[in-house]
Amino acid sequence: MTMGKDIRIRNEKQFPRVKGITPQMIKFIAEASRDTYPNEFYARLIAKDGVICEFSIIRVISGRTHVIPFTHEEPPDLSLEAVGTAHSHPSGNIRPSEADLQFFRKMGHTHIIMGYPYTDTSWKAFNSLGEKLDLPVLSPKKKRHYL
Ligand SMILES: [Zn+2]
Repeated sequence: MTMGKDIRIRNEKQFPRVKGITPQMIKFIAEASRDTYPNEFYARLIAKDGVICEFSIIRVISGRTHVIPFTHEEPPDLSLEAVGTAHSHPSGNIRPSEADLQFFRKMGHTHIIMGYPYTDTSWKAFNSLGEKLDLPVLSPKKKRHYL
């Protein structure tokens, strides 16, 4: 991933906190990565009640070793809601690149790299500094009815 222009810079604390991600989201990211292969896939991650359960796709320039999102086209609502990013590494190497690290710092606190072969275990989560993050795979909380 390479930095696009005009990225809004925010403090880490301004992004909503995250407790985990739904299994469906991992599946979707894997599928989207397969669809984009051999190029890189990129999306913004959105959390509801602290669980990442949606992603949003914006226009990108995508290649085999890079993806450049048009971050200046990101809707303002999305910039406020998104907690981080997801992108794929067609090489299968799940380590963040130098360009990824620069990008992570500006785009939230939770970043997923989905590596080839794009299975539900071929991914890792990283914080804004590119350190490995423990991101539990959770189902969204069921609504409880109290009597
Ligand atoms: Zn990358």
